[in-house]
Amino acid sequence: MAANDERPAIGIDLGTTYSCVAVWRSRDDRVEIIPNDQGNRTTPSYVSFTETERLVGDAAKNLAAMNPVNTVFDAKRLMGRTFSDPLVQNDMKHWPFKVISGPMDKPVIVVAYKGEEKQFSVEEISAMVLARMKECAEAYLGSTVIDAVITVPAYFNDSQRQATKDAGIISGLNVMRVIVEPTAAALAYGLEKKGKISGEKNVLIFDLGGGTLDVSLLNIEKGLFNVKAIAGDTHLGGEDFDSEMVSHFVLEFNRKHKKDISNSPRALRRLRTACEKAKRILSSTAQTTIGLECLYDGIDFDWKITRAKFEELNMDKFQRCMDQVEKCLRDAGMTKSKVHDVVLVGGSTRIPKVQELLQDFFDGKELCRSIHPDEAVAYGAAVQAAILSGETNEKIQGIVLCDVTPLSLGVSIRDGDMSVVVPRNTTVPTKMEEEFSTFIENQTDVIFQVYQGENPRTDDNILLGEFWLSDIPLAPKGVPRFDVTFDIDANGILNVSAVDKTTGNNSSVTITNVKGRLSKDEIEKMIRNAENYRDEDRKLKKKIEARNSLEDYVYKMKGTAKNLVLKSAIEDAIQWLDINQSAEEYEFVDKKNELLRIFK
Ligand code: AMP
Repeated sequence: MAANDERPAIGIDLGTTYSCVAVWRSRDDRVEIIPNDQGNRTTPSYVSFTETERLVGDAAKNLAAMNPVNTVFDAKRLMGRTFSDPLVQNDMKHWPFKVISGPMDKPVIVVAYKGEEKQFSVEEISAMVLARMKECAEAYLGSTVIDAVITVPAYFNDSQRQATKDAGIISGLNVMRVIVEPTAAALAYGLEKKGKISGEKNVLIFDLGGGTLDVSLLNIEKGLFNVKAIAGDTHLGGEDFDSEMVSHFVLEFNRKHKKDISNSPRALRRLRTACEKAKRILSSTAQTTIGLECLYDGIDFDWKITRAKFEELNMDKFQRCMDQVEKCLRDAGMTKSKVHDVVLVGGSTRIPKVQELLQDFFDGKELCRSIHPDEAVAYGAAVQAAILSGETNEKIQGIVLCDVTPLSLGVSIRDGDMSVVVPRNTTVPTKMEEEFSTFIENQTDVIFQVYQGENPRTDDNILLGEFWLSDIPLAPKGVPRFDVTFDIDANGILNVSAVDKTTGNNSSVTITNVKGRLSKDEIEKMIRNAENYRDEDRKLKKKIEARNSLEDYVYKMKGTAKNLVLKSAIEDAIQWLDINQSAEEYEFVDKKNELLRIFK
């Protein structure tokens, strides 16, 4: 048996709307997509809290309309962001669940669970989804799963990547690496085309999912996957198209009935689910109807929507997708005629208008639809997980991924100007150096603040960390010379150091604890909480199994009970079950044992 079958390492695509898990099977030389307990190959990234239990995945999504304020989705849209971020404020208008501002302006999700108010960080909610994917894999593979590769959008900044990693740790996983979604999809493409690729190929991955757009241009030659440039938008995807439809219908409803449904979470949730369904239908038909009985104040909702109307509502968003394709090519310094293949990934690439615009952009080039749009990312993550866990199969041996920096990195100078040291889309690993000086006469200490982002002012970028260089000899401003080095390793860990050229004094910082990231103590507390929740889930599952087992037995024996004693024992048990639906596991077991004794 190969290394990966003994201690399987899984690949998880943690999506905004759906998640997917896959594993490399050494014995079959291929990747397998792991179905969940419902037999579905993707699992909704939903968590629902009720009076009695916590549900994750399909069961949670099914409860969304009945229990809107306690059903959480879209956690990925909050990942690594602050509560006051305008994008978060805008998203909140569409969410029926409550989000408040927590310590350091981090968003906190508030729900009612078992009759009590509970607050969760975004990492904790995502950890619940990841834990469900882990459980699905364990049930399917019949062994414990610890190691995983998790994917993130290419355009996620450091805080968003770290937050994803923390979610993995809280869920009980060892996160071997966080890789970017389009690169994972490119691995799937590369493996699928293996043997068919001759020479060098430039491949553009267009990944439009539920919440994010990633555009990535790679050069693939033999096993070397070299990312040339990435572009994208962490707030552009299927959910936004749904929101446009919802807003449109809220206005139409108001116009027709003079009633505002936007203050009813239940009505909004029902409308959103129906819009998402209609959107999918419009990918294959020209017109559909949305019918919702008693949507608001006893009024039924019955509306036709055409594909043309849907496209008109979202045209500016579709156009924004194409702008990112253009930006990606510009950053890579490549003309569109040099692109050999355009690969579609993500559920929203099924939208005909998106495909049409993309095809037009590439002057009518046939788009590559041969990899599964919903599964390619998890597929590639599973391949990477297998490589990292020492899999030696010749199919995946020799694969090397060379990634790029998604955003520029630099330091703050003067009054907060951003001085870029590592421009965005630089291939990693990399080491780059820049010379700086003082801005004040006789300055003896300098603070180096490391930022990430594309804005000319550091206030608008993300502070990653800072360090001081002290004991600088007295000198006029601009005279001392410091070499500042940015060193990024293959895992994306950034080390920034500065050396005073006159004295040789040096100082440095390793960017691992991004501002706003959870502290070690907080993560440990969340791990304990997550374990408690899992314990509660396990207990509840056992209780339900015991109750079902008793019920099964009672109804099976009901038909066979011939004498009075047995008949009355069965009647008693049925009555007892009616009254004690939420009894403890041991009570159900005792009751069944009692019946077993009588029937013996
Ligand atoms: P992903 O994040 O890749 O799982 O993509 C999920 C998104 O794809 C959701 O917003 C879905 O509504 C959307 N989607 C899935 N199938 C279709 C379809 N046939 N037409 C339009 N959008 C779709």
